[in-house]
Amino acid sequence: MFAYRLPLFQLFGLRVRMHPSWLLLAWLVLWSLGAGYFPYAAPGLAPWVHWAMAGSGLLGLAVSVVAHEMAHAVVGRRFGMPVAGITLFVFGGVAELEAEPTEPLGEVLMALAGPLFSVAAAGLFYGLEDLTVGPTAVVLDYLGFLNLLLAGFNMLPAFPMDGGRVLRAALWAWRGDVVWATRWAAAGAAVLGLCLMAVGLWQLMEGAIAAGTWWLVIGFFVRAAAAQACRRQVEAASPPA
Ligand SMILES: [Zn+2]
Repeated sequence: MFAYRLPLFQLFGLRVRMHPSWLLLAWLVLWSLGAGYFPYAAPGLAPWVHWAMAGSGLLGLAVSVVAHEMAHAVVGRRFGMPVAGITLFVFGGVAELEAEPTEPLGEVLMALAGPLFSVAAAGLFYGLEDLTVGPTAVVLDYLGFLNLLLAGFNMLPAFPMDGGRVLRAALWAWRGDVVWATRWAAAGAAVLGLCLMAVGLWQLMEGAIAAGTWWLVIGFFVRAAAAQACRRQVEAASPPA
């Protein structure tokens, strides 16, 4: 999926790497926080304070994304699904599964581990926000919301995203056929991807160029990821003749 990745560090035996596209996300986040959100949420501060807040926010985002993927990896490994490492890229992060799940329960627990961890992290950031004041509290508030967003977006039922994995595992447990379950979960993701693209087109027509382009690209990516994951599962289930 990624041709080139920059190694960052290793934690719990997992290689954390960065695809160059992450820099685009980092730049977008830094710019929208430093020039847009923080001047609005914490007015009356010097510009360098807003940019320092934006830098902290970006760092917190990177840590939150890696922690979410780590939670998947640790639970996945526990249930016989080894994870080679974690890659940061333009849409966040992805844990690289070395083997597809062998039973539905393991897949559900692995899929839920990330969003549950993000919800817990949101609680921690909101709790810390109550203990602080000023710019620190505003950044912690942003990180609390960001982790809720991370959990919510990943629970969209679009295989191979977390919510889509839960859906696939439920279909799998119901009919006992992983290929059939994967085909239906991937078909659902393809429809959802089209919906996201429709939202993007609508926003483009409304004149929201940046947001519209973003949703179009995300919708396209959701469809491509579902098709790729479906192909891989079908190939894994049918040994070469
Ligand atoms: Zn996840």
